[in-house]
Amino acid sequence: MLSQIMNMQNTNLFEDITHRLAEGKIPSPRLEARLLLAYALGVDADTLNLFALELDDAQLHKLDQALKARLAHKPICKIVGTKAFYKHDFKVDCNVLSPRPDTEILVENAIRLGQQHNLKRVLDLGTGSGCILLSVIEDLPNAKGLGVDISDKALEIAQTNAAMLGLLPRVEFARGSWFDDTLNWGYKFDLIVSNPPYIKSGDIVNLAPEVKDYDPRLALDGGADGYRDYKKLAERIPEWLEDNGYVLLEVGIGQAEQVAQIFAASGLHLCEIAKDLAGINRCVILKK
Ligand code: GLN
Repeated sequence: MLSQIMNMQNTNLFEDITHRLAEGKIPSPRLEARLLLAYALGVDADTLNLFALELDDAQLHKLDQALKARLAHKPICKIVGTKAFYKHDFKVDCNVLSPRPDTEILVENAIRLGQQHNLKRVLDLGTGSGCILLSVIEDLPNAKGLGVDISDKALEIAQTNAAMLGLLPRVEFARGSWFDDTLNWGYKFDLIVSNPPYIKSGDIVNLAPEVKDYDPRLALDGGADGYRDYKKLAERIPEWLEDNGYVLLEVGIGQAEQVAQIFAASGLHLCEIAKDLAGINRCVILKK
């Protein structure tokens, strides 16, 4: 493919890439062609001049590899290595869930509550790239954060993102499976956030390849009914939450009511269910 691309260089590389992406049924092929070219050239996609493309051999090779990966349905963020979320570009790879715009709803609500109630100790369970925790504590300058994840590789990414944002003095990361008994933090939290896995195991096969093949299964699979991890969290969150503390949970489509009930059975009160940008109930907000 590289030699084919090189031959196209003097004709119209952009149109060629667009065409190949469209043939591969990749949505928004023109946009993605621009992003792949910008990545290969190491320039900003917004300022890339498509009428003056000049790629050296190394850049053509990079483009070729990136195009092959995209045609194999690797999501663009995991090819270029970053994903825009809330206020920043976060480092991502296949060891973490790609941050989703829907999750920004949880972040906005956590910051709002944190500001209103002066919340200072934030726990993020299943922190992945750290996108939730880091976005929240950045906007709560008096808060400290702890991010827990079962994956050491995810924790490395979260740590890198914390360093990039200059938040290392206010954040810690720990390996653990939810409230693993080996973890003992010695203090409670007044804000607990989580975007746990919530897809039914049997539904994973139907997800887009970008998701099922490139997001970690651990980050997606919520057990047979999709509620496995909410139940585990509901059992232990009350003992780690300060009185009057808040819990914000992302939920899948149609799960909000049942998640609220699972947590009500553990003694937490439902404050609000917040909708995402598509109008879907996405974030369950609870209080102790
Ligand atoms: N907290 C991370 C996010 O929301 C990862 C969540 C997960 O892996 N389920 O992007």
